[in-house]
Amino acid sequence: MNPVPPPAGCLACGVCCCSLLPTYVRLSGEDWARLGDEAERVAHFIGHRAYMKMSAGHCAALQVRPRADGGREYFCTVYDRRPQICRDLARGSPECLGEIATKGGRAGLVT
Ligand code: SF4
Ligand code: SF4
Repeated sequence: MNPVPPPAGCLACGVCCCSLLPTYVRLSGEDWARLGDEAERVAHFIGHRAYMKMSAGHCAALQVRPRADGGREYFCTVYDRRPQICRDLARGSPECLGEIATKGGRAGLVT
């Protein structure tokens, strides 16, 4: 049994979109091209390498929205165009559970 059960959905979690590292989400050329006209808003270059911008401890593409029940949901504003590394992190995978185990409280701090 997993010690850290994943939440019912990523919209209720958002943990893997949080980090204090400016180089947290590295982008390939393919990732940048997929972002299309959203690239300049959410991504940038640090040196010669491209990354998602990070802001206030989370990816700049992450948006927190109020839910009808008073809770919060964590919405990726580029979901259909998100980088491959985000696509590869499957909910419920060991990587996902590791994210929750190490950074579980952070998404609640996102503003
Ligand atoms: S993949 Fe896992 S850590 Fe990421 S938002 Fe979904 S449940 Fe949370
Ligand atoms: S691109 Fe979307 S899924 Fe990937 S870290 Fe940013 S907000 Fe999360």
